[in-house]
Amino acid sequence: MNLPAPDEEIDHTVACSACDAVCCRLTVVVMPSDDVPRHLVDRGELGLEVMAQNEEGWCLAIDPLRLDCTIYARRPAICREFAMGSRACRAEREDYRAAMARAIPLRVV
Ligand code: SF4
Repeated sequence: MNLPAPDEEIDHTVACSACDAVCCRLTVVVMPSDDVPRHLVDRGELGLEVMAQNEEGWCLAIDPLRLDCTIYARRPAICREFAMGSRACRAEREDYRAAMARAIPLRVV
């Protein structure tokens, strides 16, 4: 996850309630100071501890039906700092939308 620069413009029209929690598909590095349940932690390619992901690439801590974080009070610092409506948030949502558009062919009858 990329954190927003302090002077970055936030789009306040963006809302998590209208999103498939696509930021929870990004690699989340777990810092030593984080208090994440250990069964949700994996070892990343570079040897860093990261949030484990399911087969579809979503963080294992997400509730797949409600798209809520099941460890919200204990989520890693990087998740707390990821700003809704930030450039990184908007870019991730756009990439996801584009991928979905490619995956689901529309047919006009
Ligand atoms: S810990 Fe929670 S907020 Fe962070 S990526 Fe996983 S589900 Fe999302």
